[in-house]
Amino acid sequence: MLTDTTTEQKIAERIDADTAVARWNDWQWQVAHAVRDIATFEQALGIALPPEERDALEETVATFPLCVTPYYLSLIDREDYTNDPVFMQCFPSTQELEIGACDLADPLAEDADHPAPCITHRYPDRVLFLVSNLCAMYCRHCTRKRRVGDVDSIPSHEEIDAGLAYIRSHPEIRDVLLSGGDPLMLPDALLDRILTELDAIEHVEVVRIGTRIPVVLPQRVTDDLVEMLARHHPLWINTHFNHPKEITATAEQALAKLADAGIPLGNQTVLLANVNDCPRLQRTLVQKLVKNRVRPYYLYQCDLSEGLSHFRTSVAKGIEIIENLVGHTSGFAVPTYVIDAPGGGGKIPVMPTYLISWSDSRVVLRNYEGVITSYPEPADYRPAYCDGRCAECSLKLMEEGAEEQGTTGIASLLSDLDPTTTLVPENTDRMERRGDA
Ligand SMILES: *Cc1c(COP(=O)(O)O)cnc(C)c1O
Repeated sequence: MLTDTTTEQKIAERIDADTAVARWNDWQWQVAHAVRDIATFEQALGIALPPEERDALEETVATFPLCVTPYYLSLIDREDYTNDPVFMQCFPSTQELEIGACDLADPLAEDADHPAPCITHRYPDRVLFLVSNLCAMYCRHCTRKRRVGDVDSIPSHEEIDAGLAYIRSHPEIRDVLLSGGDPLMLPDALLDRILTELDAIEHVEVVRIGTRIPVVLPQRVTDDLVEMLARHHPLWINTHFNHPKEITATAEQALAKLADAGIPLGNQTVLLANVNDCPRLQRTLVQKLVKNRVRPYYLYQCDLSEGLSHFRTSVAKGIEIIENLVGHTSGFAVPTYVIDAPGGGGKIPVMPTYLISWSDSRVVLRNYEGVITSYPEPADYRPAYCDGRCAECSLKLMEEGAEEQGTTGIASLLSDLDPTTTLVPENTDRMERRGDA
């Protein structure tokens, strides 16, 4: 059933005069009639762009292709489309071809941390598994923008099998993130096969799917799909709402189906200039998400991919947003604000500063209202000395293999057992002078 009949009906008729209205809620109709060129976009929305702008946009689309579902397009306010957050996320801007000095083709160095086809293995216990290169809508702010619409890189069955084999042969992997592209663009049977293979791997404890389907093509969340997904618990889904207006009645139904199937839902928002860089807007967004049983998970600083410079905000804006959320709204509605380190360092959380000073006996903290308070440290706290022998520890972690797990990174500097006292960057002039490099 059409919800906002007038807009949807008009758009449907402009795209496909015969069958459209009846098939609006058929996701395959939506995919087959995705708008992929400027002229059809103008026609569907009922707008006319200045001709000189159209030429420049054609050039942009030749580099970074355009694709938007009729459903997502129908959310645009055509009276003020240039300022519309949905329009800005799906319609090209000529600024995309302005490559800034800091822009990188692969800012997260995903191509470097690539031990197997479709696998990015960056963290100790989890991997990113890129199982699909298809998306229902091409986000203009895509971090993998260089590969958008790149048909040659659709993973083959052999590549997916090689990815599965990698996961199978690495017992440290306990968490697999299916991403892409959009995993929910795969046929149910193929996704079912991948999930079944992952279920069969004993050390894989949890699988996550990162998808924008509930935002751009909620019709895809069919009863059949949900029934299939529910056979693969524990399965988590992270979606990608950036603006409260994307949480439509149709999107809410899709989220409800997934939540009713027992799938924990999270949301990853990208902070985008002129789209959602407003503390009040972000508060509305997170509150609307939790109302729909979606836990705000990450707020991302826009990364350094080529063609995104016009979307980037200052880091200060992100901190200001978190300042406006912590204490002001439910704790579970506050996402972690992260910067994905250029060069492959992974996600780094960034927060306003709450711990403002400390002494041997007290820490000084401030709350969201500006109240400055002190917390006395316990005088007689004696943590158990850790000699790494868990079986003899009073804390009773009898888990097998726990003793062999060493420490890495900053945690190694804090460990009683690890002799590391300093982490030293390689190739500094100082090291070279010493002859250590
Ligand atoms: C984001 C990401 C993960 C998952 O990180 P979490 O903090 O566990 O959500 C894993 N691998 C890569 C390469 C990632 O970018």
